[in-house]
Amino acid sequence: MSKIKKNIKVHQVTVGGIKIDVIKKDIKNLHLAVYPPAGRVRVASPLRVNDEAIRLYIVSKMRWIKKQKQKFNAQERQTEREYLNRESHFYQGRRYLLNVIEANAKQGVVLRNKNTIDLYARPDSTQKQKEVILTEWYREELKKQIPSLIKKWEKKIGVQVEDWGVKQMKTKWGSCNISANRIWVNLELAKKPKQCLEYIIVHEMVHLLERHHNQKFIAYMNKFMPQWKYYKEELNKLPVAHAEWEY
Ligand SMILES: [Zn+2]
Repeated sequence: MSKIKKNIKVHQVTVGGIKIDVIKKDIKNLHLAVYPPAGRVRVASPLRVNDEAIRLYIVSKMRWIKKQKQKFNAQERQTEREYLNRESHFYQGRRYLLNVIEANAKQGVVLRNKNTIDLYARPDSTQKQKEVILTEWYREELKKQIPSLIKKWEKKIGVQVEDWGVKQMKTKWGSCNISANRIWVNLELAKKPKQCLEYIIVHEMVHLLERHHNQKFIAYMNKFMPQWKYYKEELNKLPVAHAEWEY
């Protein structure tokens, strides 16, 4: 058993061959979650509940746990996109079906009926070329959305962002160069709910007030965006790419 923070203890139990992280903390109810991408299982438990009771609880939820794990395994297999018709792609947290239109016309992306991404590509485009068209569209969409969000939060937080950019990052949703007052946003956020993009922008801007993820930082987040933990949880919950995310 290892101690992470005061009053929070983490250990593992194995039930039915599945390893489960048990986190004991000062809460009222047992809370069970299965996280992508690997289907990690976590139980948050009140301090007073013993391991035997936790095991019984897990056993009672075993069917649900296995179902969740299977779902994530299927999602993981889908991660490698082939840019074929009816393939699932995400935009702003919503799932769209891809419709590839090969034509000697302008290349690009058009959303249709809130359920279809029309991707216009030259005849005989490769998978890579189609990927570039969609990726650049995601980038352009984010670049349209970010300036007004920064402007809104500059006023609320009282900081100034000198420069910002969008880039593909493997392990972070965003980053902040404090000395240059520059923030970076992960291109992947185009696929996540809008509120998650806003949360990451606020998080990075709060770093202009406080560099570290300490109590002061958390107090700022609570003040400016009381729901931030919910958005963070959303980002952890949603299907992620190959890497594990942290921010
Ligand atoms: Zn941070």
